[in-house]
Amino acid sequence: MNQIQTPDRRRVSILGATGSIGCNTLDVMTHLGGRDAFEVPAITGMGNIDLLAQQARGIGAGFAVTADPDRYQDLKSALSGSGVEAGAGPSALVEAGARDTDLLVAGIVGIAGLAPTLAAVSSGADIALANKECLVSAGELFGAAMAAGGGKLLPVDSEHNAIFQVLEQNQRHAVERIILTASGGPFRDYTLEQMAAVTPETAAAHPNWSMGLKISIDSASMFNKALEMIEARHLFDMRPEQIEVIVHPQSVIHSMVGYSDGSVLAQLGAPDMRTAIGYAISHPRRASLPVERLDLAKLARLDFIAPDETRFPALALARTAMQRGGLQGAVLNGAKEAALDAFICGRIGFLDMADIVAAAMDQLDDGRLPQAIEDVYAADRDARMVAGTLISKLAQCS
Ligand code: NAD
Ligand code: MG
Repeated sequence: MNQIQTPDRRRVSILGATGSIGCNTLDVMTHLGGRDAFEVPAITGMGNIDLLAQQARGIGAGFAVTADPDRYQDLKSALSGSGVEAGAGPSALVEAGARDTDLLVAGIVGIAGLAPTLAAVSSGADIALANKECLVSAGELFGAAMAAGGGKLLPVDSEHNAIFQVLEQNQRHAVERIILTASGGPFRDYTLEQMAAVTPETAAAHPNWSMGLKISIDSASMFNKALEMIEARHLFDMRPEQIEVIVHPQSVIHSMVGYSDGSVLAQLGAPDMRTAIGYAISHPRRASLPVERLDLAKLARLDFIAPDETRFPALALARTAMQRGGLQGAVLNGAKEAALDAFICGRIGFLDMADIVAAAMDQLDDGRLPQAIEDVYAADRDARMVAGTLISKLAQCS
């Protein structure tokens, strides 16, 4: 049953509710009072209809949407008698984003999250952004849309959330650099020969964080860090040379900001996304969350290692994309998504992913600046086409 509206319940919609970020978000919301504290205008998912319906009933969502247009009847049946409205397909997804809300958690994976997130941005909602692809692909346009909409942009990605926490707004003139930490993933110490032979299953086994399949494999290739470098550039208005990456295997320092007096401010915590999600949902007040507290004596040491860009070329590709500007972020992301899908279904090898992205970026480096969001989608399509041709060639050879 839909709840009776009370004025002090905070309205929070969730895109990608059935994923890792979405489930963690609902867990945090449950801890912070559940239906008594939150009204949920809309939630979305894709193939997992049972979970989506269960979540919608549990939190009393107004509107539940599956991205799969063929699953409308399944969702409608699963929601029967609940009072939750059902929707399906791309336009319903955008409608879910546009429904009046105070805060939208953007937790869809990939560029598929861009259109519904932009719909929420335009409605003036605050955005708790996990979907880094929005900024990687459409950085300037997304920033302009945020400014026009008037909402706050709250980073959920743990590194960016950490920076957000320690970036002193009245000391912006003194910020020299930001230092993104990276766990190094499961192949941190692998040779290139070993990496050439890894499977999607081993690539998905992240040593510290429990996350969705795609971001876990992106962490193994360090494409996740590459995306995060570009994300940081747009979120914090940094020049490419101000963005550093350091491998920190314990994932306890979530990122740092270096200032002109030599100070480096860091945010530390257990590797649990609920801290960043809770911070974004509760901003500007810190919430009380049931996450593990750091035991520094037990931890004993924190290690730092310079990243190896020969074994992890994704980092250099991010730098190239930032230096070239224009639509290179959209191309990097589109080619990466296509290559990642091909790796997941066994068509190409792990190391092929970076070669495909590099080739697509070179081939589509025309210096064009995006004027409208359609330009971003066109660059994404072109990148997938170029990547697709390369994937077919590689798949034939194997
Ligand atoms: P996930 O795969 O666990 O969940 C993705 C969600 O998006 C699911 O609800 C799924 O149904 C939905 N979805 C998938 N494809 C879709 C499509 N084409 N159209 C509409 N909906 C679709 O992913 P995740 O790990 O929760 O990651 C979500 C986003 O958050 C990604 O951009 C990721 O980079 C970012 N992120 C995740 C974590 C994490 O801990 N999982 C941390 C930092 C950032
Ligand atoms: Mg991250």
